[in-house]
Amino acid sequence: MKLTELRVINSLIYGPVPSRRLGHSLGINNIPPKICSYSCVYCQLGNTIDMQVERQTFYDPKKMVQATKEKVRQIKEKGGPIDYLAFVPDGEPTLDANLGSEIDLLKSLDIKIAVITNASLLWREDVRHDLQKADWVSLKVDTVSEEIWRAINRPHKSLSLRIILDGMITFANTFKGELTTESMLIQEINDNNEELEKIANFQAQLKPTKSYLAIPIRPPAKRTITAASEHTLNRAYQIFSKRLSEVEYLIGYEGNAFAFTGNIENDLLSITSVHPMREEAVIELLKKADTDRGVIEKLISDNSLIEVEYQSKKFYMRKLR
Ligand code: SF4
Repeated sequence: MKLTELRVINSLIYGPVPSRRLGHSLGINNIPPKICSYSCVYCQLGNTIDMQVERQTFYDPKKMVQATKEKVRQIKEKGGPIDYLAFVPDGEPTLDANLGSEIDLLKSLDIKIAVITNASLLWREDVRHDLQKADWVSLKVDTVSEEIWRAINRPHKSLSLRIILDGMITFANTFKGELTTESMLIQEINDNNEELEKIANFQAQLKPTKSYLAIPIRPPAKRTITAASEHTLNRAYQIFSKRLSEVEYLIGYEGNAFAFTGNIENDLLSITSVHPMREEAVIELLKKADTDRGVIEKLISDNSLIEVEYQSKKFYMRKLR
């Protein structure tokens, strides 16, 4: 391998990065910037440079796998943990025609493999076949309505939302690993009650182990968009929770896990960054910590927490930055 090629391939393996969903995740960037079948308004990589739906070879799979193995060896030598090898590239990972063989070749490392996909190619049998090999897959479900899909995901012109949604259901029915979903909520695009209900109903058919509600936390491709508010996130959480077994926020704050750490402020902020807490639950936790509502009032006054109401009940959630 030429030195420059080796450098390029090595630079495609990054991390491990801390991830709330995946723990210590070693990233594999199997797509050059920025090739995607979507050009989402909230994309943190900017507008898509090359819109495509055809799969192709971007890098030599054997060399990518070799570089991954070398990186894993170096990390393990230093005693660093790796929970997942994660295909999280500068574009849509399933556009890589070698995704399946790369996963096959990486299995010998005995580390779980994750893929975060926009799901737009799941109507293809070969893509579903490749993803079946992963241990953990996240599917993007921002909307189930054609008009909103065009506004938020700005798809390649040849794609059809109906066919994509069917592909997701087919995949979910056969996938043996852990299936999760991710929905990015944008103010006045996909955050109204009617759409949230529809998304939740659709996701219920996928039976994900967890459904994540996200908002953009880095500068989006389209600067004029606004993330859904705390009130909306709380509303979405309540709507999703009625139909899905587990719902969590992905709103940027990684928190400090959920155990009672002895620091009530940290505990409240960690929990409320993942889901809103009902007033009764907060009171219960305050009692355990042998303290009172003064903690809540302090967190509200320093802009860390907000109080929101839903169906006449009080909830507390982390203030978005
Ligand atoms: S699918 Fe992902 S990579 Fe592609 S435009 Fe949307 S957010 Fe960006």
